[in-house]
Amino acid sequence: MTVEIISVGTEILMGNIVNTNAAFLSEQCVTLGLSCYNQQVVGDNHDRLADAFKLALSRADIVLVSGGLGPTEDDLTKETAAEVCGSKLVEHKPSMDALKAYFAKRNIPLTENNYKQAYMPEDGKVLENPNGTAPGVIIPYKAGSSAGGAGTAGGTAEKAAKKYIILMPGPPGEMKPMFLSSVRPFLKKRSPGTIYSVTVKETGIGESSAEELIKDLIDTQTNPTIATYAKTGEVHMRVSAMAENKAEARKLTAPVVKEIKKRFGKHVYTTDENVTLEEAVVKLLKKRGLTITFAESCTGGLLSGRVVGVPGVSDVYKTGFVTYSNKAKHKLLGVSKKTLKKFGAVSEECAYEMAFGAAKAAEADVAVAITGIAGPDGGTEEKPVGTVYIGCCINGEASVKRFNFSGNREKIRDNSVSAALRMLHSELA
Ligand code: ATP
Ligand code: MG
Repeated sequence: MTVEIISVGTEILMGNIVNTNAAFLSEQCVTLGLSCYNQQVVGDNHDRLADAFKLALSRADIVLVSGGLGPTEDDLTKETAAEVCGSKLVEHKPSMDALKAYFAKRNIPLTENNYKQAYMPEDGKVLENPNGTAPGVIIPYKAGSSAGGAGTAGGTAEKAAKKYIILMPGPPGEMKPMFLSSVRPFLKKRSPGTIYSVTVKETGIGESSAEELIKDLIDTQTNPTIATYAKTGEVHMRVSAMAENKAEARKLTAPVVKEIKKRFGKHVYTTDENVTLEEAVVKLLKKRGLTITFAESCTGGLLSGRVVGVPGVSDVYKTGFVTYSNKAKHKLLGVSKKTLKKFGAVSEECAYEMAFGAAKAAEADVAVAITGIAGPDGGTEEKPVGTVYIGCCINGEASVKRFNFSGNREKIRDNSVSAALRMLHSELA
């Protein structure tokens, strides 16, 4: 069974809002084992909407639509979808009651244009919207009903009868709960199986080396499949299996996940889709009962920011230092004037003293220091833009690594933070 996603809204076309609904719906389809080969974005315009629906029905079984269900004149999605499906709009009593109750509860007057939200396609299955005023609806598509487009839609009448347009409101806070509670079960019943995936997240290894390590597994993959994704300083490997149910699918992924973990050893920091590298680092610190601090120059607090983003970090993180100038490095971290003069602020010696000094000043067990040239100016032949030294001091023992990143200022700073987290992870694991 195939699905097509249509996002309705002129705002999306104009780039005013990012189409997160389509991303959410696509991801949901993947987990349901449904194939989605096309997506469309269309403005609030009757003719173009009708064309989009007809095109989608000509090549997919289920059309998932979000947006344009509101009360205003330019919200045309439902009217157009009903027309294409050959369905008349009639008053839907439960929706009308819910609408009136919604307004009464909030003590706001119900205006004439709001009533249109309670008119539903006569043969549609209405989906409640506890988070807003516009209900959703599943409309069966009757072959031969839409003007002009019907011929391409289904072939035989029977095949066409299995097609549906499913309408959901645009605001993600309304669309997502409606999808999960009503649409997902509807799709699940029609799905050939379930896809279960596990993501093995690795750090400290490049994408091509990572692929090389499991080339034999990738070359022979069928079910499960292995897909690799590169993120800043990380490689994620998603192992997905298709089976009748989740337990069966999980059984298929288990040996492959185990083998990948074995081959990557310490590079693997989690197999939980929702765990980030900084969370893994915080977990290791907690496990080992260590406190941490950061001394940052070119990253200006980005590393602290990422780590402080982890809930419950207060058990391990005490304070951080943003020491941009030489004076600050000397005054706050005790980097010697001699080091700064002889080797410069971007040097192995300085990174070492920064890490050491930060651990001492913060009375922390672990300190990580970053000093580098993020550009665009300031590079030399010996130390070009992108040269970054990262020092890591654990229980009084410090080590420093030199990195040469490429890209613009933003990318170099992001890469520095990722490298620092990676270094920390491998030192603590
Ligand atoms: P409303 O009753 O609020 O008018 P609606 O169903 O008519 O809802 P739209 O008017 O199309 O939906 O969109 C309302 C808001 O929902 C948008 O301003 C935007 O913030 C959000 N939204 C709509 N479509 C998307 C999308 N594809 N991805 C992310 N957000 C979206
Ligand atoms: Mg609207």
